[in-house]
Amino acid sequence: MLIVCAEVALVEAELVGGLLGCPSCREVLGPWGHARQRVLRCRAGDRWLRPRRARCRGCAGTHVLLPDVCLLRRQDEVSVIGAAIVASVAGEAYRRIAGRFGVHADTVRGWLRRFRDRAEVIRSHFTRCAVALDPELGAVMPAGSSVADAVEVIAVAGRAWVLRFGPGDPWPVASRLSGGELLATRTPAYSWAI
Ligand SMILES: [Zn+2]
Repeated sequence: MLIVCAEVALVEAELVGGLLGCPSCREVLGPWGHARQRVLRCRAGDRWLRPRRARCRGCAGTHVLLPDVCLLRRQDEVSVIGAAIVASVAGEAYRRIAGRFGVHADTVRGWLRRFRDRAEVIRSHFTRCAVALDPELGAVMPAGSSVADAVEVIAVAGRAWVLRFGPGDPWPVASRLSGGELLATRTPAYSWAI
């Protein structure tokens, strides 16, 4: 699995042009059909995705090219998940967040719990990303809790990304920097490259 730009035409051009690297071995990925269709719940309504599949010319492994508006194995748009996490840090109760976004309360609670459990892993990973993107970055100020610190450093890494690569929405950038595994169960390998 590889997190790519949400713009289908751009991804297609990169794939055909041999510009996408294999997350396992860094060799060139080539087109390899499509993955199964899936629905992504977005703020603007449901969106059907049919992600591209790619095959590595080196190790022959196949990878699903998941757009950066997604997180791995999550049905909701990453911006919605991110906004729920930010609202929770600001003190809003999960049931209220769920009502506001039209998402099941258990789903929101699941995101928040997973993020809380992984807050330290996320904080240290995104700190490394931020420093790699901007070596002159100063210290990130503590925000008051492990979850708030993790959210803060995601924002810092997002700003560093934008400074380096140009405009991008913070949560899709976070999806890319985490290889889609922001809320994954296992400790991620985070096979991203700048
Ligand atoms: Zn490979």
